[in-house]
Amino acid sequence: MVTALDFFAIENPRNETDNRQGRLIPLEPSDLYYMCIKDQFDRHWEHVGRMRPRVRAIYKVLYLQSELQPFLDYKADVAAVRNGLVVRSLFHGTTRACRLGEGSHNLVFCELSDCSLCSIIRNSFDVAMCGEKFCLQLTPSNRFGVGIYTTPCSSKADDYVKNLSPDAKWRVSLLSRVVVGKPKKFRHNRTTLTEPPHGFDSVWGVPGADLNYEETVVYDNNAIRPAYLVVYGDADLELDFGPKVPATSIEIIRRIFASAFV
Ligand SMILES: [Zn+2]
Repeated sequence: MVTALDFFAIENPRNETDNRQGRLIPLEPSDLYYMCIKDQFDRHWEHVGRMRPRVRAIYKVLYLQSELQPFLDYKADVAAVRNGLVVRSLFHGTTRACRLGEGSHNLVFCELSDCSLCSIIRNSFDVAMCGEKFCLQLTPSNRFGVGIYTTPCSSKADDYVKNLSPDAKWRVSLLSRVVVGKPKKFRHNRTTLTEPPHGFDSVWGVPGADLNYEETVVYDNNAIRPAYLVVYGDADLELDFGPKVPATSIEIIRRIFASAFV
């Protein structure tokens, strides 16, 4: 059986572009996906009193089809037993030792041992590294145990963005495809978890008790793949920055965008 090439597969003809550098494709601000991702980032900058930064660049992250296939198989297995949406696009902030994403001359992954960002993009997430340096947890107390932490809240992911390079100008966050399947909702910490509770595929931490902002945790490396690198920084003082898109178009864009995730 011939398997369709994934939207993020290097081999997919739609990713053959002169702009591609290695695994990264810079998106134009006029690109529908750029607009939709920026919209997601802006709408979910939720921390009150923290000035929303301006999105500076967005890169599509590519993998070999063979590297995506375990994720696609996992997603198909979950979709076969769950109804509705099984994949969400969620942010993850981590440590960056290089200046990846800052201009066209900074698009090659570094080899620095303390650069979690390049490690994650190169090899995707590794739950075995969580609690160590490559998968910064969203809380120091391992709120929901040993897993891979993501959030729809761009400002919460920003809490875990750390630039080690003194030359770094911007900050970056990873927007990933996350197979949430049937999530188990928790308002209180469950620090001993190493897998989702029986009958569930992920943990969904919701605000109200121990959390101020939503987060999602998966416990399987194949439940997640990075999709876009979002580069941002400095306050967004130009409120009319970027192409104007009617609200109806944004909704259409969102649907197009979502189709790449489900
Ligand atoms: Zn790096």
